[in-house]
Amino acid sequence: GRGRTDVTVLVLGLDNSGKTTLLAALRPPDPRPHDPRPHAAPTVGHSVDHFTSGGVSFSAWDVSGAARHRALWERHYRAAHAIIFVVDSADHLRLVVAREELELLVSHPDMCGRRLPLLVLANKSDAPHALAPMQVAAALGLERITDKPWHICASCALSGAGLADGVAWLARQVR
Ligand code: GDP
Repeated sequence: GRGRTDVTVLVLGLDNSGKTTLLAALRPPDPRPHDPRPHAAPTVGHSVDHFTSGGVSFSAWDVSGAARHRALWERHYRAAHAIIFVVDSADHLRLVVAREELELLVSHPDMCGRRLPLLVLANKSDAPHALAPMQVAAALGLERITDKPWHICASCALSGAGLADGVAWLARQVR
């Protein structure tokens, strides 16, 4: 690892993959109910969330999957220490689009060749007909990503299942 304890993580993925929901699930309970922190409401541009795992404090930039916002989120690439890429495992048709997005991301001049840990969340694992993580990995062509340590795990952002394990992997990569 690199001994980092403050980590900026980009959260990317197509719209409707579950980014907003999983960031809400990772968010620590708000100790000040009358002073709620701003919510990561339907993603436009970006918003920042915070969570911790394994002694690492994460600042998560939820960057929209909408192509029209690409210029916005590309500005954050250079500041990122890690990436979470969220996929709807039950949306078989759009896996092809997700693969194209991921390829654009990892081949971007500000990303290519950097050893940023990449956590892929095969989200909506609870949905009927959800693909298993290995099938999602194959559909995304993850085996072709050789310049970054990557890890895929199944998650359900609604229940939080799988999120802690995935984020713990990220924490181990950066520490
Ligand atoms: P975003 O556009 O990537 O931020 O996606 P959202 O977090 O807004 O989620 C899109 C929709 O998928 C919402 O209706 C969520 O309730 C639903 N959703 C998110 N995660 C899961 C999941 O793990 N399982 C199921 N069944 N639905 C999910």
